[in-house]
Amino acid sequence: MTAQAAENREHAVVIGLEVHVQLETSTKIFCNCSTTAVDDEEPNTRTCPVCLGLPGALPVLNEGAVEAAVKIGKALSADIPERTTFHRKNYYYPDLPKNFQLTQYDAPICQQGSLEISVEGQRREIGITRAHLEEDPGSLQHEGGSIDTADYSLINYNRAGTPLVEIVTEPDFRSPQETRAFLAKLEGVLEYLGVFEATRDGSLRVDANISLVEAEDVDEDGSISDDVLADANRTEVKNISSHKGAEKALAYEVTRQKNAVRRGRVIETETRHWDESRGITVSMRSKESEADYRYFREADLPPLEVAHWKDEISIPELPDARRERFQSEYGLDSESASKLTSTKAVADFFEAVAESFDADLAATWVADNLLGELNYRDMAITDVEDRLDEFERLIELVDSDQVTTKNAEEIVLREMLDEGDDPATIIDREGLGKADEGEIEGFVSEAIEENPDAVEDYHNGEGGALNFLVGQVMQKSQGSADPGSVNELLRAELAE
Ligand SMILES: [Zn+2]
Repeated sequence: MTAQAAENREHAVVIGLEVHVQLETSTKIFCNCSTTAVDDEEPNTRTCPVCLGLPGALPVLNEGAVEAAVKIGKALSADIPERTTFHRKNYYYPDLPKNFQLTQYDAPICQQGSLEISVEGQRREIGITRAHLEEDPGSLQHEGGSIDTADYSLINYNRAGTPLVEIVTEPDFRSPQETRAFLAKLEGVLEYLGVFEATRDGSLRVDANISLVEAEDVDEDGSISDDVLADANRTEVKNISSHKGAEKALAYEVTRQKNAVRRGRVIETETRHWDESRGITVSMRSKESEADYRYFREADLPPLEVAHWKDEISIPELPDARRERFQSEYGLDSESASKLTSTKAVADFFEAVAESFDADLAATWVADNLLGELNYRDMAITDVEDRLDEFERLIELVDSDQVTTKNAEEIVLREMLDEGDDPATIIDREGLGKADEGEIEGFVSEAIEENPDAVEDYHNGEGGALNFLVGQVMQKSQGSADPGSVNELLRAELAE
């Protein structure tokens, strides 16, 4: 047994996540300031007395943020309580104009949910402790260096008051890989719900609690008792901004903790900062305890009766259900179905194409050709969704034999994406119209006449000779012939 394997047998990894999701509402959570492109606007122009925390300003709860939180709760099979309340979380930091953050404490809007993940074919259910609404602080810009070395710092309150939902999981993860799978899954669900924009900077931020427990303290079903968890020293890793980042940061932290234990050191309970560029976690400060925040009820916001919202707000078909439906309804294999449900926009695009064409053909064109080319160009389906008509025309041209599949894939589709032209224009411009049969028969005869050696080789049973002749015909037709039918024509002609 390797030292690593021995180590893994002695210790189990326990990870819990806090995921901050920026909600896609048009205005901030407690005022009417716009949330659109706040980071691109002139600093401190998207502000008002409420989000600047001026004396006497009163918060008004954004209905859209509550709706988004209820949708998230339903998607995570969480309980929505009768009523939910807001609390002040008190701490002092320059990006926090009121010196407290408006958040939820003992009556969060979502409670006790779950999300199933699959890692290497193993399905696991991750418990969701709670999900609550809160406001984002502003942002700091350190001039002339990092937070340690800057000459001075500038504060921008444009972001202050942006609505967030913080999703807190149970300590149910047993490996960094599982956290990555969870975050990818969660991001998919949030995108389907339409409450979240993955491409927006800072739209998903993760803090992770991680500790090691003795392997013998883990029950056979993988559960760990509350007493063991309470005794374990844990570090909180902050500043994780992607699912890949989560897996890397936690893998680093697992190794760091195991090495410390091996050397007989005690793991400090502390907050550590994930330094993405260096790929390490660094100690930040000792972790505040809950008491440090002096939570108390926000008297300016009455309790919100929220139970009935759950029945009134509907959510769309979610990724898992849609993937299964794609397999049963369209007969797709699980890999294609997964690709085609990776985002709601991709799934919608596929279903639109599948209305006009055979499902297999639609799946090949969307999952393999289009997504592959988009990915290569760092583009998303949303960049081309208004060109659905052109894309369908391209498949139509292939399907009706007016352009070869090879040319459609390798030239027409690529130029459609690069130049923005429609398929007919490209086919015309590049002379890709499929040659008619008479023309190809002419090329076949020419190739046979011009290459007597190859013809002789063919009759002597040399396999390569036919491919050579096909190549000659393809060249003459400038790619407008279909290699399969050229092959057939050549065989027929050579057999005479
Ligand atoms: Zn405001």
